[in-house]
Amino acid sequence: MPVTLVNLLYIIAAMLFVFGLKMLSKATSARKGNLISAIGMLLAIITALSSDSLLHWPWIVAGIVAGAVIGALAARLVAMTSMPEMVALFNGFGGIASLLVGWVEFQRLSSAGSLATSIWNELLIIGVTVLIGGVTFTGSVIAWAKLSARITSKPVLYGGQQLVNGLTVLLILLSLLMISFGRPLMVEGNLLSFLSTYIVFIFLGALSLLLGVMVVIPIGGGDMPVVISLLNSYSGMAACAAGFVIKNNVLIVSGALVGSSGIILTNIMCKAMNRSITNVLFSGFGSAATAQKGAGFTGEAKPISIEDAYPILEAAQNILIVPGYGMAVAQAQHAVQELAAQLQENGADVNFGIHPVAGRMPGHMNVLLAEANVPYEQLKEMDDVNPTIAAVDVALVIGANDVVNPAARSDEGSPLYGMPVINVDEAKTIIVFKRSLNPGFAGVDNPLFFGEKSRMLFGDAKVSIQGLVAEFKN
Ligand code: NAP
Repeated sequence: MPVTLVNLLYIIAAMLFVFGLKMLSKATSARKGNLISAIGMLLAIITALSSDSLLHWPWIVAGIVAGAVIGALAARLVAMTSMPEMVALFNGFGGIASLLVGWVEFQRLSSAGSLATSIWNELLIIGVTVLIGGVTFTGSVIAWAKLSARITSKPVLYGGQQLVNGLTVLLILLSLLMISFGRPLMVEGNLLSFLSTYIVFIFLGALSLLLGVMVVIPIGGGDMPVVISLLNSYSGMAACAAGFVIKNNVLIVSGALVGSSGIILTNIMCKAMNRSITNVLFSGFGSAATAQKGAGFTGEAKPISIEDAYPILEAAQNILIVPGYGMAVAQAQHAVQELAAQLQENGADVNFGIHPVAGRMPGHMNVLLAEANVPYEQLKEMDDVNPTIAAVDVALVIGANDVVNPAARSDEGSPLYGMPVINVDEAKTIIVFKRSLNPGFAGVDNPLFFGEKSRMLFGDAKVSIQGLVAEFKN
């Protein structure tokens, strides 16, 4: 295929990626965006495969079939609550693929006897590909293992950790330098020189894999979604570097898009949690060891039964539903949708207030509510609902805790202080659905539960909501 045509097709694929990404930012266009990006990827793959005379077709076809089967099965079978683990593994696969591309290219240069004549930046980029790919792979595997409780989710800390990590980084930098600038030491055909370069290269790969483990083990399981988003960005950067190695423009562009969108998402998550990325990576926050209480609250939580909650809801005209992680745990989204429909049928105006970090992964609530067919127009972002909450008759807080904690506004001593929250405490009445007064992810007490206008409907969220739906039906 002529180079101009190949590049033209790559540009079209890249445009499809960009449009797809843009459409992913809105719930209404996200599905279409996903499809458009997938079409772009298909075009990129077909173009890449037809642009070169490939010798190993059976292997390529086998790889495509195996990948497609695994991908389709994983997408079908994975439970919504296990999505972060799956994304972690997929990032890891991206990382290891880039590492292998770097390795194969290094192998090709060495077996062609052209290591010594390669220019330094060619070797450096191969080294960088292996480095980012390796860190992404093992970092993602550890994130997956922590999230799925295959290993302890607590931060693993030990004396001299900083020193060991620093030393590993130093050795990695030295290996990169040796691989890139050690050429004058290499003599064509000199077995010893070839072996020593190869050994340094393998050493670099091993250290990169080790670094991925070292940087993720000190982080608490609760922070894994942010880490996964960051590793997603790394997998993009690894792919971008691999694109430079094999001189493939569309891989460079798609890797750069994944790398930059991953870092933007990481930033959004950190902002919504009022944390800095350094705090997430180096503090062990979210672990039981560092969980703190807010400024102890006085007052008594007032329980309410389903039967007593029903007339309050029946009389309400303006209702705001704020879902959180507990709704995902209880798998209450379908019951919540049913209740919302009943309330609307009863003449109430019903909206959902969605906090950007409600749940345990970006868009967690949007995905669950979309699965339950809640109309997109009813899903309102935090910044849109907050100015209108004073007019809300009843706010239903369903398995949400940190994202509605008013201490984030007022208690300077609270670890949540400064985090933007949905101000449900400004509603006329608040009904909180949860099983106990236990804190949420941040381990912080919530004064909302003791407020004058608050009522606690204790129990599993799905059971309680189903009870309310039954009341309406009766
Ligand atoms: P949360 O603060 O973790 O609170 C969830 C609440 O759900 C708990 O207090 C729990 O109380 C309740 N719950 C659990 N199972 C339940 C069930 N079956 N029925 C009813 N209630 C149940 O959740 P959130 O308000 O959604 O806040 C999310 C937190 O995760 C934030 O701190 C955020 O920073 C953090 N985070 C989010 C992301 C993200 O991307 N979304 C990533 C990392 C961290 P009981 O045990 O008393 O029932």
